[in-house]
Amino acid sequence: MYCTICGSELEKKSIEKEGEIPFCKKCNKLYFPTVDIAMISILTNSKNQICLINQNKLSKFKVLIAGYIKPGESLEDCVEREIKEEVGLDITHCNYLNSHHYEKSNVLMVGYHAVTEQYEFQIDETEVDNAAWYNLDDAIGRIREGSIAYLLVKQYIENSETSE
Ligand SMILES: [Zn+2]
Repeated sequence: MYCTICGSELEKKSIEKEGEIPFCKKCNKLYFPTVDIAMISILTNSKNQICLINQNKLSKFKVLIAGYIKPGESLEDCVEREIKEEVGLDITHCNYLNSHHYEKSNVLMVGYHAVTEQYEFQIDETEVDNAAWYNLDDAIGRIREGSIAYLLVKQYIENSETSE
């Protein structure tokens, strides 16, 4: 490992409770293990239908809107921006659900529920193949079982049932 600032080779420094952490002596900077952060959002309309999208024509499964955080952005900003970019809708608000670490790409996926009063999608064709609204009981079967989207939608449906 090399320092991303000055390019020096990193040494190991022993830090209490953290173990051996890569360290640049020249910049006096510790390189703690990091994780990328992305948000994944359930988007519902005023009829409590869920927006599912296809990003890949070849996949039979649908997914939720998701995207990486940009520097300087809050998670809520990211939810609002990605929904606007991918399906062209403005949200009225969003709430945190829960988060899951996606091991394959070392990303912390932070789950949100966003609400819109709009229905007509304007999709960004470079990122999204199609988008549609689904009733809660119809949505879950269209998502890959065991995926983070699946866990979020399943939990959302369970919570909607208990609050009715
Ligand atoms: Zn350095």
